[in-house]
Amino acid sequence: MNITLSNGAKEIMSLLESNNRKAYAVGGCIRDQIMGKEPFDFDITTDATADEMLEIFSSYRVLTTGIKHGTVAVFADNEIFECTTFRVDGEYTDSRHPDSVTFSRNLRDDLSRRDYTVNALCYNEKDGLIDLFGGIDDIKGKTIRCIGEAEKRFTEDALRILRGLRFASSLGFTVEAKTANAMLCCAPLLQNISKERITEEFRKMLIGKNTGYVLEGFLPVLKAVIPDFEIQKNYIDEFSSSAEDFEYRMSLLIKHNPHNEALLTALRLPKKVCESISQLSAMEAPENKIELKKMLGAFKEENVVKYLTCSGNTDALRWYGEIKSGGECYQLSQLAVTGKDILSLGVESHKIGGILNRLLDDVINEKTENTKEELIKAIRSFS
Ligand code: ATP
Ligand code: MG
Repeated sequence: MNITLSNGAKEIMSLLESNNRKAYAVGGCIRDQIMGKEPFDFDITTDATADEMLEIFSSYRVLTTGIKHGTVAVFADNEIFECTTFRVDGEYTDSRHPDSVTFSRNLRDDLSRRDYTVNALCYNEKDGLIDLFGGIDDIKGKTIRCIGEAEKRFTEDALRILRGLRFASSLGFTVEAKTANAMLCCAPLLQNISKERITEEFRKMLIGKNTGYVLEGFLPVLKAVIPDFEIQKNYIDEFSSSAEDFEYRMSLLIKHNPHNEALLTALRLPKKVCESISQLSAMEAPENKIELKKMLGAFKEENVVKYLTCSGNTDALRWYGEIKSGGECYQLSQLAVTGKDILSLGVESHKIGGILNRLLDDVINEKTENTKEELIKAIRSFS
């Protein structure tokens, strides 16, 4: 199994090692490489304390915001590396944060506190790949399995439940039976987790390739975070094969079940994202170019394009291309007359808005050509 380290990770790990400290790349970067995927970033775990790291990396740019938890973020080779001291988490009383963390010089301690076997693999050039909990077998068997006793681990930190479902969905894995049962039993503890963290994990879960598996088997977990959440079993397959886009999939959930609009308040989403989801859920496939122009007038253009792209509507995308390249009119600003032009015809100002909309309608419906001459003729015919 070939694991490679980025140049920055090599540099940081060698520097720690030359100071007689241990250092390993750990977590997602190893899991992803074993799965044949490019790692997203390299997290480093070390027996160096934060103070020792600050000394060792004194000539580097560092961020110390995570120092209480033993994390020093080091910039090297234009990348940022989170380097964290081996640690054991203390007691948990709030289902999310350990009351204290204890630092350790022992790698096993650090790997044991991690959530899933597939996330507890680590590597350095000297020791090679270290797999204390059967993570490689679980990657091969596409299994999400808790390290230690699942119920205890979820009682400590309930966010792990959603993380596990997110990994199952995004990696295309299934959850081992004991872990799955504990997820369902401990679901009510998710009420202690912040909306922000829930939103982030739910978002990643929803766009994963195995989202259908999660929706089908773990509805009680989702209901614990989003009370009115509902999806019918016979709809799940269709949903799972839809485009892996968060806003689009959210809109499908709402379209499918109007109750699910409660998702928008249960999650902490930016206003713009909520607006896009609402618009997408109100859209229907246009039957022809005229209908498409009406859609472009009624909704934000980028949302219409997203809808057509995600729903794979190649006909409508072709019409859209023609509309754009031909400069065809679908919004007020493209009309060949302005409010001012209409005013100069002696029309009372309060009537102008209505007239412009009527002109746009006529142009879109191909009743009138979008030339100044034709539009003025049309205005005269209105009165
Ligand atoms: P991603 O590809 O999403 O970054 P990742 O596995 O790197 O996946 P991170 O959230 O970056 O996930 O966390 C890094 C590592 O820290 C994890 O692989 C896991 O070992 C450990 N970890 C993170 N959150 C928890 C948690 N809540 N409980 C236990 N271990 C955790
Ligand atoms: Mg990561």
